Amino acid sequence: MSRLFICKNIVLEHTLLNGAVLVDPDGKVEKVIEADEICFVKNTRKILLGNDFLMAGIVDSHVHINEPGRTEWEGFESATKAAAAGGITTICDMPLNSIPPTTNVENLLVKAHAARDIIHVDVAFWGGVVPDNTDAFYGLIKAGVVGFKCFMCPSGVKEFECLNESQLDLAMKKLKGSNAPLAIHAELAICEPCTGNPQKYETFLKSRPEEMEIEAVKKIIEIGLKYDKIMLHIVHVSSAKTAKLIKDARLKGLRITSETCHHYLTLCSQEIPDRATQYKCCPPIRNRENREDLWLAFKEKQIDMVVSDHSPSTPDLKLLSPDDENFGDYMKAWGGIASLQFGLSLFWTGAKQRGFTFFHINKYMSRATSVLVGLHGSKGRIQENYDADFVVWDPHAICTINESDIYHKNKANPYMGREVLGKVLKTYVRGDLVYDSESKSKFMKSPKGKLLLDIDL
Ligand SMILES: [Zn+2]
Repeated sequence: MSRLFICKNIVLEHTLLNGAVLVDPDGKVEKVIEADEICFVKNTRKILLGNDFLMAGIVDSHVHINEPGRTEWEGFESATKAAAAGGITTICDMPLNSIPPTTNVENLLVKAHAARDIIHVDVAFWGGVVPDNTDAFYGLIKAGVVGFKCFMCPSGVKEFECLNESQLDLAMKKLKGSNAPLAIHAELAICEPCTGNPQKYETFLKSRPEEMEIEAVKKIIEIGLKYDKIMLHIVHVSSAKTAKLIKDARLKGLRITSETCHHYLTLCSQEIPDRATQYKCCPPIRNRENREDLWLAFKEKQIDMVVSDHSPSTPDLKLLSPDDENFGDYMKAWGGIASLQFGLSLFWTGAKQRGFTFFHINKYMSRATSVLVGLHGSKGRIQENYDADFVVWDPHAICTINESDIYHKNKANPYMGREVLGKVLKTYVRGDLVYDSESKSKFMKSPKGKLLLDIDL
């Protein structure tokens, strides 16, 4: 049966509409209508959303799920529950930290089999580039990966090796013209080892200065400009200077985009305590001035999107226990921040203070990410023939991030106890309710998420 979502605040690309969204029985948006047309729509189930806000579901194009192989870090069921509770309706899984990594079709199938039947939102996959797998690109593209990811410095796990300059060059050469973006972790290991107190955040920060990112991006641009029709994407830009370089390269004709993450926009090095390794990620969170420059970089069109880079691990690897002999060692702790569920509230809290609007949330968290991963024909907007993926939320609610409300498998994160603006009330995937903050069970018994792949399992 068709469903009619009636709402006073429907966030479209440029307007806030008082009206309704008609969704067909297949879960596609049939029509977006104004309030005075609602009475003409017959034979539908009406879903009354009143003064809440109805927005296209968030597409988080950078998430590490780690199943199988490191499922104790994060798995498909817990990650997609956290996503649903955060208003995210599509996540794109990164190729590393799971075992096997997604570096050929066989490995992709292993991941896809682990995910099917247990996902609460839609899941797409990135393929991985390691030194010896260019022969696997074609098969992975045919199977439906959204693009490829590689590293220019050690990834942190041994089964996913980084590329040197000539290997990066070869990867670009093979991918040009394919429409599959190459997403790059841009840091070059050009620094001397750091010798300060490892329990101080400053020591870690000095060990990964922004020059590592800047030099890596310069190298990427230099190689990229050699090839026509290559799509490049710089993941987790931490430095505002890097963001400017990327826009300058785009002006020279390179197809290159960039993302930053909620932690770089929300946190700053001056506020990070000693031994608080839940704040550790690579590249690191930089100072307050840089954080403000990153916000400005959105206005200058130097940054295209914002993602979670959700990358949790077990608490022992984060060295969070005072009983651990390496307790609070920033240099030894796993680098990765868990935040999948809070992205909307974190971004909105910072964005509203700086004059951004609801339309920017949709632009940076749904539309731009959908374009990056080639899902812009079906995801990221409320429009005819698009999937009816919605988040219903209250942008005025003030909430505190509490451990008991978190659905990620590992709860440690740098936001515990933090007050944020905005509360997700309900999430719908293709018109079906997948999360309801008011219900006792919160999630549906039978998960409604789909694998966004082009192969049969
Ligand atoms: Zn990542």
